[in-house]
Amino acid sequence: MSTFDYDLFVIGGGSGGVRAARVAAGETGAKVALAEEDRYGGTCVIRGCVPKKLMVFASEYNEMPSLARSYGWDIPDGSFDWQPFTVKLNAELDRLEGIYRSLLKNSGVESFDARATLKDAHTVSLSNGKEVTAKHILIATGGRPVRPNLPGAELGIVSDDIFHLPELPKSVLIVGGGYIACEFACILHGLGVKVTQYYRGEQILRGFDNEARGMIADSMIARGIDLRLGVNVEQMEMANGTKPAGYVPGQGPTKIVNTQGTEETYDLVLFATGRNPNSNDMGLEALGIGMGRGGAIEVNDYSQTAVPSVYAIGDVTDRVNLTPVAIREGMAFVETVFRGNPTPVDHDLIASAVFTQPEMGTVGLSEEAARAQEEIEVYASSFKPMMTAFAGAQEKVLMKLVVSKATRKVLGCHIVAPGAGEMIQLAGIAVKMGATKEDFDRTVAVHPTMSEEIVTMRTPTRTG
Ligand code: NDP
Repeated sequence: MSTFDYDLFVIGGGSGGVRAARVAAGETGAKVALAEEDRYGGTCVIRGCVPKKLMVFASEYNEMPSLARSYGWDIPDGSFDWQPFTVKLNAELDRLEGIYRSLLKNSGVESFDARATLKDAHTVSLSNGKEVTAKHILIATGGRPVRPNLPGAELGIVSDDIFHLPELPKSVLIVGGGYIACEFACILHGLGVKVTQYYRGEQILRGFDNEARGMIADSMIARGIDLRLGVNVEQMEMANGTKPAGYVPGQGPTKIVNTQGTEETYDLVLFATGRNPNSNDMGLEALGIGMGRGGAIEVNDYSQTAVPSVYAIGDVTDRVNLTPVAIREGMAFVETVFRGNPTPVDHDLIASAVFTQPEMGTVGLSEEAARAQEEIEVYASSFKPMMTAFAGAQEKVLMKLVVSKATRKVLGCHIVAPGAGEMIQLAGIAVKMGATKEDFDRTVAVHPTMSEEIVTMRTPTRTG
């Protein structure tokens, strides 16, 4: 008989925590409880990937009437109405949250709608006053957006807030050049908002393949996004005087001064300036759990902290901050702790997509990172895709392979194209399997598609 109330207590009801809890309870018979202080589903379902992707779909209709007209349809331009969309969006999020709750319940997990902190290596204190013990504790509390430290930053909103706007602004300034900034620049532009984006560096999407980054930046500018590089916000204030009582960020136009000394006014300022692990005030330092940059919980290959009974997965560990990775880490934790099969998480060659317009799908090394490592061949093809070329559009797509000269293995695959997220999932299997350029070459093309170029590029564009 266990002396603990539970075999496992999970803190955080997002993708990683829910998966670990329900697999441990449902498939290994462990006695499991989970605490969530906010909504079940976490960042991905409630304020991230899912509502974002629905907004991407909504925004993509912007270009469809003119495309349809060029194919002979008699369709007028339409306009977008935020209210009915958000009613449907919220209903969908409610439905998904309900599914998350019932997944837990049906697996036999007891849930607490409460904030949880650690009292000691086996005791969790809940904000409802309860204290419970567990043999193992899993922290899966995710991350949260951070605002930059500048005067008036509290006047701007962060990505969490975007889904709750009562109405769309006429103009927005988006600060940042990462996934969230670029995706929302494209989404809001598509929904009819006048978008300005400031990025402090030389080119958006730092860390991705340079050629792909450049193409996305060019496409964003060509679509009408006012993308400005090498500029940042220095200070902000309400354009119409002081903040009213009960002010919420984003209410009323904001005046900013930028690092070039220019004063500008926007209806809304959105900070997409990164996310920090959600590990504050949980009692972790006092227990001797190591915390890294921004509060990232330090864990070993098995997601175990310095306190052997306490594990952490997902964004709170700041390894690879993506939902499917948190889920993998949760599954590996259950395998290690509840099935006696120590399983490290494989963080190598994870494919991902940036849902800009056009999308980017990427797996493996950028051309620059690969060249720094070894001699390479680059195969790149940039062309106007059939569907939009027919309509007279100038926008190009990019299919690119980065190949090791020595082993012939494909080290990186980068796609900029409509649907690139879908394409890279499949290319990712080949790259993960260690496919060589010759493996790609002997695969017969699917014609006529954009992605057939990935198996028909014969001559390197660059070597060395
Ligand atoms: P990122 O870390 O990707 O980007 C943050 C951006 O903000 C960078 O451009 C950074 O600039 C800039 N920045 C940071 N601090 C400041 C500052 N003080 N002033 C001005 N700019 C600043 O974070 P995101 O918030 O975009 O996304 C967080 C994570 O969420 C991503 O890393 C990703 O893992 C995940 N995500 C994944 C998505 C997907 O899979 N499609 C979608 C959305 C999020 P610099 O480059 O100079 O550091």
